[in-house]
Amino acid sequence: MNIGTDKKIQWCPGCGNFAIYNALKHVLECSIEEGRIKKENLVLISGIGCYGYITNYYHTNSFHVLHGRVPPVATGVKLANPELLVIGFAGDGDAYAEGMSHTIHAARRNTDIKLIIHDNGVYGLTTGQFTPTSPRGFKGKSTPFGNVENPIDPITLMLVARATFVARAYSGDIKHLEYVLEKALLHKGFAVVDILQPCVTFNNTYDYYGSRVYRLEDSGYTSDSYEKAIEKSIGSGDKIPIGIFYQKDTETFEEAIRGNLNFFLDREIQNVADFINSRI
Ligand code: SF4
Repeated sequence: MNIGTDKKIQWCPGCGNFAIYNALKHVLECSIEEGRIKKENLVLISGIGCYGYITNYYHTNSFHVLHGRVPPVATGVKLANPELLVIGFAGDGDAYAEGMSHTIHAARRNTDIKLIIHDNGVYGLTTGQFTPTSPRGFKGKSTPFGNVENPIDPITLMLVARATFVARAYSGDIKHLEYVLEKALLHKGFAVVDILQPCVTFNNTYDYYGSRVYRLEDSGYTSDSYEKAIEKSIGSGDKIPIGIFYQKDTETFEEAIRGNLNFFLDREIQNVADFINSRI
């Protein structure tokens, strides 16, 4: 099973996008071969950024949509056909700037979609402007004297927005990235994976992350407590945890909508039956 295409990959050599692409490709191919996913039920949606080309490199159903608009399109696809496995890709600009409100609302609704965020802390496609996850002091095209804004914390943000699966991964640890992606795909509900990803051309963070990330799973952490997840996401010190911060199974947006629809239809059918009976 190979779900790749023969299109020439356009990213800079060493870009973290390669690891994310290959990790997801491996997880999807294994899942299809083992019967957990049907290839025809797979829908991939990407927004705008260097990473956005990713949908060209998988041989599946896919859409390339407007900047920041991946969650609403993914939600529409999932509502139209709940059998589909809908995976959205977004950049840190997509997810936390232009599309910030869409990301938050998809999380709080618990739509059964997966959102993979290529978080490289920079707008690479437009040659190096700062994003909401760029650190304070970051120097780029639009901040030659250093970014004066505080970065947001995606993990805390998604937890507070009530996402039911919240994880962080690192493109430099591919085995662990595959593990997290596989768990995210299996989750019923909104799953968000924020992937720390170096942009070798405009924000090369390989050394920075390489010396700081550690696997949550290796530290005995379990992902069943919301309070502990919040505490862990805020963190302290220099180290950066990667792994599943929080996971909870609960009703999805589609299930809630379908419940309302069934109630409405039952009521209307009863009204029609009452009307007919009253005329007999
Ligand atoms: Fe990757 Fe950065 Fe090159 Fe874009 S500019 S392809 S994000 S390394």
